[in-house]
Amino acid sequence: MSRIPLMAGNWKMNLDHLEATHLVQKLDWTLRDGRHDFGAVEVVVCPPFTDLRTVQTLVDGDRLEVKYGAQDLSVHDSGAYTGEVSGKFLAKLGCSYVIVGHSERREYHHETDAVVADKLVAAYRYGLTPIFCCGEGLEIRKAGSHVAHVLEQVRAGLAQLTPEQVTSVVIAYEPIWAIGTGEVATPDDAQEVCGAIRAQLAESYGEATAQGIRILYGGSVKSGNIAAIMACPDVDGALVGGSALDPVEFASICRYQQ
Ligand code: PEP
Repeated sequence: MSRIPLMAGNWKMNLDHLEATHLVQKLDWTLRDGRHDFGAVEVVVCPPFTDLRTVQTLVDGDRLEVKYGAQDLSVHDSGAYTGEVSGKFLAKLGCSYVIVGHSERREYHHETDAVVADKLVAAYRYGLTPIFCCGEGLEIRKAGSHVAHVLEQVRAGLAQLTPEQVTSVVIAYEPIWAIGTGEVATPDDAQEVCGAIRAQLAESYGEATAQGIRILYGGSVKSGNIAAIMACPDVDGALVGGSALDPVEFASICRYQQ
């Protein structure tokens, strides 16, 4: 089964709504100028919550083919949860995707596998496609238990979803030691874990489902290393942090085939 590659930019807590306008316009111009085929490689930006309305207006108004999503969502739909943002609101703003379980949420906001599992369910309640992040820290990698660690995160995260929901989930394998460090995992490192994730998905949900699920790699992706990463048979795209803040660089990543 052919999987459409997905390049998702995680802006983290960078760029206000005015800067977002500039980035999205420049990204769109650069991609169009290079005759980017949006049907062949999907392009997604995930700005801060406060930028989403602006990005929606731009995308709708100018009929852009760039898609957008949020970086997190609440497990709740509404109510007395100060500071939280519901998947219901994100869907209303036209978000297609939402990042769930990023290592920075797990580390700084103490999100456990159980919370991540609840957030995946919340995303599907409102038709949002989750980009579900998993990955090991350096200690686990050094101890050689990274594959087992990631497979357990994947199992726990997907545990509450229906088999039908699992068919559309996007999984992002992000070794924490490679995020924002300039330290990129080798293509063999990425393939080892992404291949193991797909094998586990096949065991749990069947080969057809496993072959249809997109598995991204994330961790210091740049235009200079994306082609080698994309050559891995079980890598279907990238979750990009720092390099997604430069529209020309991110466009080059999206156009890795050219
Ligand atoms: C990320 O935060 O998801 C990420 C992969 O960041 P960077 O590309 O900067 O390593």
